[in-house]
Amino acid sequence: MSEVLVLIEAPQGKVTKPSLELLTIARRIGEPSAVVFGDADNAVLSEYGAEKIYTYSDSVYQEYLVAPKAEALAALVASTSPAAVLVPSTSEGKEIAARVALKSDSGLITDAVDVTVDGGAITTTQMAFAGNFTVAAQVTKGAPVIAVKPNSAAPEAVAGAGTVEAVSFDVPESAKTVKIVSSEPRVSTGRPELTEAAIVVSGGRGTGGDFSEVEALADALGAAVGASRAAVDSGWKPHTFQVGQTGKTVSPQLYVANGISGAIQHRAGMQTSKTIVAVNKDEEAPIFELVDFGVVGDLKTVLPQATEEITKR
Ligand code: FAD
Repeated sequence: MSEVLVLIEAPQGKVTKPSLELLTIARRIGEPSAVVFGDADNAVLSEYGAEKIYTYSDSVYQEYLVAPKAEALAALVASTSPAAVLVPSTSEGKEIAARVALKSDSGLITDAVDVTVDGGAITTTQMAFAGNFTVAAQVTKGAPVIAVKPNSAAPEAVAGAGTVEAVSFDVPESAKTVKIVSSEPRVSTGRPELTEAAIVVSGGRGTGGDFSEVEALADALGAAVGASRAAVDSGWKPHTFQVGQTGKTVSPQLYVANGISGAIQHRAGMQTSKTIVAVNKDEEAPIFELVDFGVVGDLKTVLPQATEEITKR
């Protein structure tokens, strides 16, 4: 069975959920091999199916942005001839993917939300035009390099051999172009990361700027907090909270939209959520066309009741 290279992201050594999702997707294609720059929890990687773990421990990968990792990964592609290369569709992942595809003379697909395999042919699904079109695509040359969005698969614990192979690679001087001057971990809110959360509770202009009811419900559900662009543009939440076409794409098990009208650009970021609930005082709000459950009412009244009921259980 062919190898499938999976680029792992592991800030402070903790393997991200999207990386584990990629290992699960890789198993559909062939044998997953994790590629780790720096430290990652190898036990977790093998627990989620990594047959091989290529580790690059040279500090150069932490000292410079993107290019050294792309050079090393492209060299690994050349030496292993994998069936595919999967990377998380983060800003760094996408830049590495583009460079690897170019160096490997193969095709690149970004922002895939699904990857299927039929008779050896790898087909990806992408959303286009604010989610109005679904595009199926196949790479026709070389090993496909595919950047996959978070929440595109549920990580499955399937034990892999987890054989560690330390790789030493001479990074060319030409790749040492952008030096990292400083790097600070983001202050944790104590809530799950928006793009990784199983439940997202969002607020829009209808909150009037007071997110306390939205946050209380989120905490009762163990959810991440999101926001519409109207809420972000009003300065009520930072841009990192924005869900939508020009914000983050989320695909949780449950999305709760509060005081959000359901504009097409907002839908683009959340319409693949498994279950959608909306609270809006306008029964004509377009969000109700999309929901599994809708509550017509004032969020200031509805949310505290929901929070109280959930907290009781
Ligand atoms: P509104 O549309 O004003 O809706 C507020 C809703 O709250 C209304 O339906 C109202 O009935 C309800 N409401 C009011 N008070 C209450 C209450 N007390 N209780 C319950 N309900 C109440 N938007 C995004 O969200 N994400 C994006 O990434 C994004 N990208 C964009 C990109 C472009 C190029 C453009 C042109 C627009 C983009 N937008 C985006 C903006 C988008 O078009 C909408 O303007 C925005 O989503 C509206 O946010 P909203 O639903 O919070 O506000």
